[in-house]
Amino acid sequence: MTRLELRELRKTYRTRGRPPVEAVRGIDLTLRSGELLGLLGPSGCGKSTTLRMIAGLEAVTGGDILVDGASVVRAPAQDRNMGVAFENYALYPPLTVAENLAFGLRARRRSARGDVSRKVAEIAERVGLREILDAHPSTLSSGQKQRVSLARALIREPDVLLLDEPLSHLDAAQRDTTRRELKRIQRDLGHTTILVTHDQEEALSLADRIAVMKDGVIQQLGTPYEIYDSP
Ligand code: ADP
Ligand code: ADP
Repeated sequence: MTRLELRELRKTYRTRGRPPVEAVRGIDLTLRSGELLGLLGPSGCGKSTTLRMIAGLEAVTGGDILVDGASVVRAPAQDRNMGVAFENYALYPPLTVAENLAFGLRARRRSARGDVSRKVAEIAERVGLREILDAHPSTLSSGQKQRVSLARALIREPDVLLLDEPLSHLDAAQRDTTRRELKRIQRDLGHTTILVTHDQEEALSLADRIAVMKDGVIQQLGTPYEIYDSP
């Protein structure tokens, strides 16, 4: 059970010879334990930067990130116990799907060996990967890769799940199944989750609350009903 708080979170990218980019300009947000927040907003508004800062994959310019009241803003990614499924968070090409999943677990030094294969089988079943466990990432469709990424995030039993457009490469039928699966996983395991999406149906069916970002700030925050019903 994990509460996630963002306080005055900021990120300015400074590239030599270019004007600084204020990608995130002060985000305050509290996710209660087990809550799924849908993060929406136009391309370039700072959604991915926000997720990467929470995951520890990007240094913050200012502000704080608290997990159950304790600041993690200076902790390296591997100490934050967050499961991430990002577009560019690549699978390891030399490893099979099963090995990629097992790798995620070993990296966390959480489970004994027998446990690892049991967990891989379990998550493969849940996310529908059983048939491709022995395949290498390069032979997979982008939809399949996306489901492997999701499985790799989930298998770590993270305190916090950070998902960036996790269903965007799936076809309509797969998206439907995976969305339902995600909802069930969320209900069963109760991860505190931030889900970046462009898909209104995805946000409506999965999110407890929706935050709409624009130009690096949160412009609207409310239940899906409040957000989609407001003029
Ligand atoms: P979104 O995920 O909402 O599309 P991003 O967080 O990717 O938004 O980007 C927010 C802003 O920060 C954009 O203006 C983008 O161009 C800029 N940006 C993102 N990553 C970098 C980077 N590594 N270096 C410089 N600017 C970046
Ligand atoms: P390392 O060699 O330190 O494992 P990686 O590039 O694999 O470096 O990953 C950086 C950190 O992110 C590592 O601590 C790794 O355990 C962690 N990591 C890898 N995959 C995931 C994932 N799906 N979700 C969250 N963290 C991950």
